[in-house]
Amino acid sequence: MNSQAAPGRPPRVLVIGGSIGGLLAANLLHRAGCDVTVFERAEEDLAGRGAGISAHHGLLAIIRRICPQIDQSIGVEVSTRICLDRGGRITHQTEVPQFMSAWGRIYRLLKAAFPAARYRCGMQLERVEQDAGSVTAVFAGGLRIHGDLLVAADGMRSTVRAQLMPEAQPVYAGYVAWRGIVDERDIPPAIHAEIFERYTFCLPEGEMMQSYPVPGRDDDTRPGHRGYNFVWYRPTDEHVLLPQLCTDAAGRRHGASIPPPLIRSEFIAELKATAHATLAPQIAEIVARTAEPFFHAICDLESPRLTHGRVALLGDAAFVARPHVGMGITKAGLDAQCLTDAITQAGGNIDAALARYERERFQFGTRIVAEARRLGAYLQAQLKPRAERTAAELQQRPEVVLREIGSPLVDIRDLESATIMTGTSQPRLIHHAYLSRVVAKRHQIWRDTVER
Ligand SMILES: Cc1cc2nc3c(=O)[nH]c(=O)nc-3n(C[C@H](O)[C@H](O)[C@H](O)COP(=O)(O)OP(=O)(O)OC[C@H]3O[C@@H](n4cnc5c(N)ncnc54)[C@H](O)[C@@H]3O)c2cc1C
Repeated sequence: MNSQAAPGRPPRVLVIGGSIGGLLAANLLHRAGCDVTVFERAEEDLAGRGAGISAHHGLLAIIRRICPQIDQSIGVEVSTRICLDRGGRITHQTEVPQFMSAWGRIYRLLKAAFPAARYRCGMQLERVEQDAGSVTAVFAGGLRIHGDLLVAADGMRSTVRAQLMPEAQPVYAGYVAWRGIVDERDIPPAIHAEIFERYTFCLPEGEMMQSYPVPGRDDDTRPGHRGYNFVWYRPTDEHVLLPQLCTDAAGRRHGASIPPPLIRSEFIAELKATAHATLAPQIAEIVARTAEPFFHAICDLESPRLTHGRVALLGDAAFVARPHVGMGITKAGLDAQCLTDAITQAGGNIDAALARYERERFQFGTRIVAEARRLGAYLQAQLKPRAERTAAELQQRPEVVLREIGSPLVDIRDLESATIMTGTSQPRLIHHAYLSRVVAKRHQIWRDTVER
């Protein structure tokens, strides 16, 4: 079998999907000397997508491999988490240092770092063909492009995965995340003073609201120019309400999601009215001032494997963990880094590199999905009759939510080493004790990285 790229030339890599996962892989592989082209089906720039994200230390380290010049303007730092009750009073407070950024900020950075001529828009992959030593991408219109390796970074509803592993399907978790961003300058001063610099939770029965500062328009992180982002998880029945939410004013059904401008005005009005009825008034005001809230249906996705011949699945195409671990982009970066290092260290032997990629990234994916599912169990259980719920599904404990959700340290290796270090039969308890001990250290590493 010919497992090397042709002698004398670098491996030719076709990256399908030009979003954050695809761009992380493309940039790293390009810098490692591969001959990389990105194929994105969207005609237009993707920068308008997305909202705020929590960023993990690992992500920043990977981005620094691509853009060594990045500084603190990549995000906004928060260190205090609070929980507000319905009356707007702080009921719980804890210190969890964290760096918040925005999807568009990371996307623009990665896109600008990649050669424009090698990023091809309007290229919809239809199928993949392969033999022992090469792979062919077949695009709408019939264009065929050959490569040594195809990286499927085409997202949760991946065309490549649907062809090669049709049994792996996203599974709806029973709730949606409503999201939105308000400009810092549009927040009334009294509310700004109480919440803006904090990661804030509201926990009305059956739901979870979290909000935090992020870079503003044009990626501005100067005080007064930032944004304030919210993510509000709300149980939503799959068969009745979700289809209604995904149907526009003209009666057209848009699958399992809908473009934000087409969300019907009565659903936005209901969201804002419910915010006033159930959330702390400061946060309800943030929702009220959001011009165009939008939602994502929350899903789990697990692929049975990460590689298939000369194809590697990466990012959301491979595994989707619910956003409670705030890991999507970091995981895509770790996948991209592993694949690149495996190819480099295998001296261009693609098959050996893919075997290593499968070994190293598969377990991470399955465990992060399981961890996120655990964190979302309370929300998922809301559509079950009360009598059928477990104790954990009946009540969310604010002190646990504040400590665990989007924790910057939800990292499988840490989790493993914490368990091994103590030899305990209660890994979760020890996990958190361990996390709190290393949080300051990890935060320092993060600061050192951005300040270097
Ligand atoms: C509510 C919510 C909150 C989140 N919060 C965070 C957070 O705080 N931190 C974090 O790290 N992550 C977060 N995430 C997850 C994060 O957004 C994703 O994990 C990440 O964007 C995945 O990137 P991706 O490139 O793998 O996939 P995608 O962004 O889905 O990109 C796939 C790309 O492939 C293209 N494509 C698809 N099919 C084809 C085809 N056939 N041919 C060519 N191109 C194709 C698409 O157009 C798209 O551009 C959150 C997600 C949600 C839903």
